[in-house]
Formats: sequence, C-alpha cells, structure tokens
Amino acid sequence: MSSPQLIPFLEKQDSEIFNAIRGEEKRESEGLELIPSENYVSKAVLEADGSVFTNKYSEGYPGRRYYGGQEYTDVVENIARERACKLFNCKFANVQPLSGAPANVAMYFALCKPGDTILGMDLGHGGHLTHGHPVTHLAKIFNFIRYKMKDPETGEIDFDELRETALREKPKMILAGFSAYSRNLDYAKFVEIAKEVGAITVMDAAHIAGLIAGKALPNPFDFGFDVITTTTHKTLRGPRGGMILVRENADFAKAIDKSVFPGLQGGPHMHLIAGKAVAFGEALKPEFQTYAQQILKNAKAMEKVFLDADIRLLGGGTSNHLLLADVFGSLGVTGKDAQFALDEVGITLNMNSIADDPRKPLDPSGIRFGTPAATTRGFDEKDCARVAELMIEVLKDHENSDLKKRVREEIRKLCLARPIPESFL
Ligand SMILES: *Cc1c(COP(=O)(O)O)cnc(C)c1O
Repeated sequence: MSSPQLIPFLEKQDSEIFNAIRGEEKRESEGLELIPSENYVSKAVLEADGSVFTNKYSEGYPGRRYYGGQEYTDVVENIARERACKLFNCKFANVQPLSGAPANVAMYFALCKPGDTILGMDLGHGGHLTHGHPVTHLAKIFNFIRYKMKDPETGEIDFDELRETALREKPKMILAGFSAYSRNLDYAKFVEIAKEVGAITVMDAAHIAGLIAGKALPNPFDFGFDVITTTTHKTLRGPRGGMILVRENADFAKAIDKSVFPGLQGGPHMHLIAGKAVAFGEALKPEFQTYAQQILKNAKAMEKVFLDADIRLLGGGTSNHLLLADVFGSLGVTGKDAQFALDEVGITLNMNSIADDPRKPLDPSGIRFGTPAATTRGFDEKDCARVAELMIEVLKDHENSDLKKRVREEIRKLCLARPIPESFL
C-alpha cells in the first residue's frame, strides 16, 4: 500500500474522521476502481489541496481582487491558468469553477440568455445531467434540444438529423461531450454545422480532458471549437474541481469570468486551484502522455475480452477510456445486480442506462467501466484483460459465493501488487 497520509493532528484530535480516512485509504488501495470518472492524485496534489490556501478569501481575479493579502494567491492562480492554456493550446482559462456542474452553469449563463436554445447530446445516448436533464434547474431556464446516435452499434452520431434540427431550431449553442459514450466525436462536423447556423460550439470534456491533454485523443480546439468545459479530477488526475477554457475569443473569456464570479460563485477555493496548478504541471510532462496512451490500450484490452465473450458493447467497442456493456441483453444479469456482485469482489463500477434502455434508470441494462484509475496504479493490458475475464466469470454466475470469494482474493492480490503511486514524475 502507498504510505498513509501523515495526519498526526487529526489522529490526536478527531478519531472518528481519522479512522474514516484510514478506512478510505485501505479501500482505495485494496479494491479495483473501474468507475471511469475516478482517479488517484499524487501526494504533491494532495499536499497542495491540504495547504493553508484553504484559509484565504480571494474573490476576483489575479491583479483585481476584493480583499488584501493576495501576493501568493495571484502566483498560484496565474500559474494554474498559464499551464491550463499550454495543456489545451488555448488563449484563456478560468480555473475557479468549483466542479464540473457549476462550470457548465457559468458557461451557459455567460454565452446564452434565458430561453435560448441549446442543442446537446441526448442523455440516454451518453450525454450528461448538466446538459439539460429535466431534473436540473438549467432545464427550466434554457431550451435544451437533443441529438442522438444514428446507430448504437457503432456509436456514430446522426449528423443528418443534427443538422436538420440545427437548421430548424437555430440553437445559440451546439454542445458536444458526454459521460457514457465510448467513441470519438467528429469535431470538424460539429463546427461545420455550427458555422452554418451561427451557433457557438462548446465541448464538455469532463471525462476525456486528460486524454486530450495527454495527446492521446484529438483536441476540439484544433477543429475550431470555441469553448471547452471540464472537470479537473477525472482523467486529468487533479483535485476535485472544474475549469472553462476559451480558444481565442476575448469577449467569450470576459463573459465567462464575469459569469463564474460574481455571477455564480463567491470566493474561489484557492487550495484546490493550487492543486490544479500542480496537476497541470504533472500533465505537461512526457510521462503523462505515456499514461494517457496506456489508458486507451488498457480499455482496448478489456474490449477484446468482452467482445470475444459475445457481450454487447454500446458503440461496438471503445476508442477512449470507457466501456458500456449491455449485461442484461447479453447475460441476463441486470445492471444493478452486476454492480452489486462486482462490488462484492472488490471491483467498483456503476450501473448505467444504455441507449433506448427498456429498463429503468435505477435498475438499467448496462454497466459502465473504464481504465483511468487502474492505469494510474500501473495496470497494463495483461492485468486489464485478466480483470475483464474475472468480471465476466462473476457476471455469469453472480450468486456463487465460492466463486466471488476466489475472485475477491485475486483482485486484492492484483491491487496489492500494483500499489497506488505517490508520485508520477
Ligand atoms: C462529471 C461530469 C460533469 C460534472 O462534474 P462534477 O464535478 O461532478 O460536477 C459534467 N459534465 C460531464 C460530461 C461529466 O462527465
């Protein structure tokens, strides 16, 4: 196990929270994390997150804040912004969003007016809650309309339908991005259609930001996208937080800064911005590109085992870090039963609806899993193929407790042989 975090004051002062932290350290080190939106940060990022910057109010932006004492906050935020721009090859970065959801809220209000139409990916086809799900506040304010996949077996987006919808509805914004979609998007096509109707193009890269930064996947900015929103804690392997990037339009950047603060948020979380700066520094190193490539290779290794076992994968497979398997359609086990059985053997993932799912969201047909966290701890293609084999064994016989005991032990051994690293440089 990677060495426990040094927290002597907590140990003395608050045994309940101390014990919960130790428990979580053990859980993370002995279990296999396949939730595609999770990852492990370096100790350097953890130290920045736990630093004295948590004490500081710094409303405003570097050089123009509303409180005194900003000589060090300005250093940290400027470095975070510069590194973000370098990583994503763009002119402007706002690193203050507290997470991915508020980044999107701030972005919508910066670039759209209430009532404006936003054309985004259908939520059942891989889009995200913050892309206008009816349960969100956003859905009451903006007019979200949808595009879908043409064919869930290939994952191809239906660009004919997307274009027709865009021509008819004249959206203010065309939004790309997803949380349960395993193929690459044709960014050039999005930009072409957006130009035709005069829409702004935004990519919500929350899931794949690290793959873009690590040059393992194409960068939407290279195809002319205007804006990228993202989280910083998924494949980008930084602290929990969000960020908004603008390719070159200074008016957009200005509107976004105003929208984040004072439009939506108060004081930025400067300790987490320090953590973002450290994580971006790591992502700028060549080692991070190797990491990003390995995430894709590992996902491909899992894909092969699933396809060889005739299990249906949405999109027909994967071109990124995640897979969405129709376990109900292929094996007769529901997504919920699959999630719980795998949890019992130390494999953490989530049940997930599949495109046009006949089942309900709380017990859907699919499971979603991915390789970013396992790759961080050093799993290679062989390890990932073995994990996929074990998953399928469990899914095929998910009430067999002897089997689950044996698999639990093998997963634990695999994990202990690959401790979570303390540093990536
Ligand atoms: C994870 C995610 C978000 C939300 O991020 P939070 O940090 O959980 O608020 C937004 N958009 C997409 C596409 C995501 O995958």
